[in-house]
Amino acid sequence: EREVDPVAATGELAEEAALRPRAMAEFVGQPVVRRQLGLVLEAARRRGSSPDHVLLAGPPGLGKTTLAYIVGAEMGVPVRVTSGPALQHAGDLAAILSSLDEHEVLFLDEIHRMSRAAEEMLYVAMEDFRVDVVVGKGPGATAIPLPLPRFTLVGATTRAGMLPSPLRDRFGFTGHLDFYDDADLERVLRRSARLLGIRLEPDVSHEVARRSRGTPRIANRLLRRVRDYAEVHGDVADGGVVTLDHAREALALFGVDELGLDRLDQAVLDALCRRFGGGPVGLSTLATTVGEEPETVETVCEPFLLRRGFLARTPRGRVALPPAWQHLGLTPPVREVG
Ligand code: ADP
Repeated sequence: EREVDPVAATGELAEEAALRPRAMAEFVGQPVVRRQLGLVLEAARRRGSSPDHVLLAGPPGLGKTTLAYIVGAEMGVPVRVTSGPALQHAGDLAAILSSLDEHEVLFLDEIHRMSRAAEEMLYVAMEDFRVDVVVGKGPGATAIPLPLPRFTLVGATTRAGMLPSPLRDRFGFTGHLDFYDDADLERVLRRSARLLGIRLEPDVSHEVARRSRGTPRIANRLLRRVRDYAEVHGDVADGGVVTLDHAREALALFGVDELGLDRLDQAVLDALCRRFGGGPVGLSTLATTVGEEPETVETVCEPFLLRRGFLARTPRGRVALPPAWQHLGLTPPVREVG
């Protein structure tokens, strides 16, 4: 049985878990992925079999974990959870795989961070539902095949491009999650407010939605900070309403700017424009300048800045685009042609 951390269980993590949609019908937005995955699951259900392995790709906080649990719920089977960094030895993976029950869902988060040895074991497990357990050492070592139950792997990655193609090819379906538009984030926020018992003035969900970087996890987190602010500075504790002023003041307090860029986004744009004259600058130089890991800048921060047209990736490095200069209140330098 999983141990429950009493602090987490009563705090933020419990709230985040409580906000997770449990069924496909509750999952807001992403109409393409919802329809595609819905079809894969429905067909498997009619055949009475396990669905094909599913790969979910996209930036953090867009609903990959949520969808993995929904696959389990829709198929009426339990979900086992692990992650790439936890599988540094093939034996770690063998232990999990051999303990799965028939039809169970195995959710493997950050699948691009698995060790090579675990990855090769996973190929065989996905394709032939078998692990080869090596017994003995040196020339006398033998591989004993161990049959596995029929299971469904749901892999999640923020970097689909980094997966070796033999791994990618073993998934029957890949869902690409994209940033949410403001209307969908408003629906996420109104649902969350209802579940948390928070009453919002009509404009509040719109204001928070448009400043949430297209990401439900961020929307839910900002909603909780706005609630905190309103509880401390207003009279919402006894049935009052969260106002637009509460929302704006809370967002300002937590460093979320007018367009929803957070501290790291702002630091990256600032470094790119002020420090490097708009680039091109290499990812690792940029990351060092803002004091972050290159992978964090690349997977957490850049996708949204790219999507919003603030920066571009070129073969020579990252460059700032005009909206970045504008947003910082700067004039882009005039470049010589040629
Ligand atoms: P990921 O695994 O992609 O990082 P999660 O599945 O953990 O993201 O989602 C983060 C949070 O955002 C969840 O707790 C959930 O409450 C919320 N969320 C994500 N996608 C949706 C959605 N489509 N509708 C409603 N809430 C969502």
